Amino acid sequence: MNSNSKLVVYNTLTRKKEQFEPINAPFVGMYVCGPTVYGDAHLGHARSALTFDTIYRFLKFLGYKVRYVRNITDVGHLEHDSDEGEDKIAKKARLEQLEPMEVAQYYTKRYLDAMDSMNVLRPNIQPHATGHIIEQIEIVQTLLDKGYAYLSEGSVYFDVNKYNNETHKYGILSHRVIDEMISNTRELDGQSEKRNPADFALWKKASPEHIMRWQSPWSEGFPGWHLECTAMSRKYLGKQFDIHGGGLDLLFPHHESEIAQSVCAFGCEPAKYWLHNNMITIGGQKMGKSLGNFITLNEFFSGEHEKLDKAYSPMTIRFFILQAHYRSTLDFSNEALTAAEKGMKKLFEAQKKIDTLPVSNASSVNFDEVFSKCIEAMCDDFNTPVAIAEMFEASRLINLVSDKKETITQADKERLKADFDTVFGDILGMKGEQTDNSSQVINSLMDVILSLRSEARANKDWAKSDLIRDALAKAGITIKDGKEGATWSLE
Ligand code: ZN
Repeated sequence: MNSNSKLVVYNTLTRKKEQFEPINAPFVGMYVCGPTVYGDAHLGHARSALTFDTIYRFLKFLGYKVRYVRNITDVGHLEHDSDEGEDKIAKKARLEQLEPMEVAQYYTKRYLDAMDSMNVLRPNIQPHATGHIIEQIEIVQTLLDKGYAYLSEGSVYFDVNKYNNETHKYGILSHRVIDEMISNTRELDGQSEKRNPADFALWKKASPEHIMRWQSPWSEGFPGWHLECTAMSRKYLGKQFDIHGGGLDLLFPHHESEIAQSVCAFGCEPAKYWLHNNMITIGGQKMGKSLGNFITLNEFFSGEHEKLDKAYSPMTIRFFILQAHYRSTLDFSNEALTAAEKGMKKLFEAQKKIDTLPVSNASSVNFDEVFSKCIEAMCDDFNTPVAIAEMFEASRLINLVSDKKETITQADKERLKADFDTVFGDILGMKGEQTDNSSQVINSLMDVILSLRSEARANKDWAKSDLIRDALAKAGITIKDGKEGATWSLE
């Protein structure tokens, strides 16, 4: 498969599509803001992970050597993404009477399991904020030394006005104007600690009841949320790297603040290209916990949610998300997901059919053009919906060959198979669903066995009933007789 197209990406920073030219080709450094691990991942998390997974896959397809870093936020992310309120993980820990690290590890595992099931490749490095407190303290000290931060009541804040007066750049990414930001910032408790409402915390002094706390030169406390990404991207990708990604909801204040911190601490903007995926809506409304229209990935996979007509497989979720361009909003509905499921099945069927295609001496169809268009689409700011539309065209042609209305040679058939697998499998990350319904089968089998045994018991055929119980015990299955009948469990 060949394509002469050059990769073009939409850079949020310049609001333009730009030719992708890595700072140090063929190496590409990519940093993506990962989840705050205090609850189960939802469709929005899936969209961000899938967007950058597909970008990661495509960059590798183009031959780049990518170092992909995605962090785990396990401290410092306060409620309402503000400088006040409770730490999201500490709050969950308090409510569930757990150690914060227990909360973080539990939800990190569940996040990764959900992403694995959608065939999201693991990043090369997954650093934790709590593992980089020293690096964060160092940056706070640098910013204090350079006069871009100030100490107030044991907390350290970034001085947005000083930065802005000198370089006029706060708002460079989100294209907001600082006066507007100040007037739009609500008065919050403790705001008086700040010189300016737009200032943001670099280090927060911990209140006595705050359980996540570390020693620092200023107070026993914890780092501000924006600081971790600056510290971790700097550590693993250097002070300047190629791509910084995340959800559009992180544009301000999170990414804006990252830029300000980096410029002041290291003298340069951290990333050359800023890429943001758009949000997922439900009935046109933003999906969110506070709105009560929040569906977790595990609920999608099991179908257990009042808004879901049925269960949707991880691959259906992947295909549904990739059918929209990452910069468009995507509206959730059962109809849209069912349509995605149907389309996905069609492509998997076409993929399977390739092996069985009859071959001829000459090809009457040209698949090369179709796959070149897929690559061209991906080169145009990762346009997955267009690439998928081309895959449907490939599927249509495959069916024509299968119906003997078109012909293909053995060599072309082999290339078709390789190209189909590359685009559908390697780049779009679509993997045949493991039709592993073994647990379902075991459940049904156990129902049959237990009903045979209860029949034996009803007939006072104790020999048979014991025979069944002992045989199951040998297989590691324990039977318990209760009021509601027998239940079973695996040892
Ligand atoms: Zn971040």
